[in-house]
Amino acid sequence: MHLLYPQICFGCGTDQVEKAMPLCTQCIQDLPFTDFFSINENPVEKIFWGRVQVQYAGALLFFTKNSLVQILMAQLKYHHNKKVGILFGYLMGQAIVSEQKFEQIDLMIPIPILPSKINSRGYNQSQVIAIGMQQVWNRPIMQDVLIKKNWSNSQTKKDRKARLQQVPDLFFLQNPACIKGKHLLLVDDVLTTGATLEAAIETLMAGSPASVSIAVAAYTL
Ligand SMILES: [Zn+2]
Repeated sequence: MHLLYPQICFGCGTDQVEKAMPLCTQCIQDLPFTDFFSINENPVEKIFWGRVQVQYAGALLFFTKNSLVQILMAQLKYHHNKKVGILFGYLMGQAIVSEQKFEQIDLMIPIPILPSKINSRGYNQSQVIAIGMQQVWNRPIMQDVLIKKNWSNSQTKKDRKARLQQVPDLFFLQNPACIKGKHLLLVDDVLTTGATLEAAIETLMAGSPASVSIAVAAYTL
């Protein structure tokens, strides 16, 4: 089996990789880390200024076109390569566990995807990242609070009006009592405009959490 499907590093192609890892040690070290979790008023936090109340926010890696991070993200989202999500989560957990400001966080909430997507992909990539984080940063993951709306089943005129609003109406809140008074950390894979996270936070705010912070694996430059 090893000869047919050699385990190689997605960065440099060496076969000197540990079984559970998509990258060799050197390529992990060479990833484009942002260090944002240790920087106050970093570019990810600034994205949400004037839009929605975010306590702390950060991204693990810079995401650029034709980069190793883009290849890894495609592996995670379209090629059933769960190991990438676990590694991203593990590294993000390491970045967060050393920051005192994140100690207050009570719960992690991965950005949900539709059940139909989970069926084709095998998992929710944001949840896999959160599971990787748990290896070094022990916080529970809540999956039944923030729920993705299925627009394809409910495209009425009223919905169309909602879609034209500035903040997309993507989610609904379930079991709001679970987040009341809690410090939440939203976990997502890639941050571009912030519209998805903004919509998620607006939905969560209806449950009166104490605060909402954000951790994303990659930030688009
Ligand atoms: Zn390598």
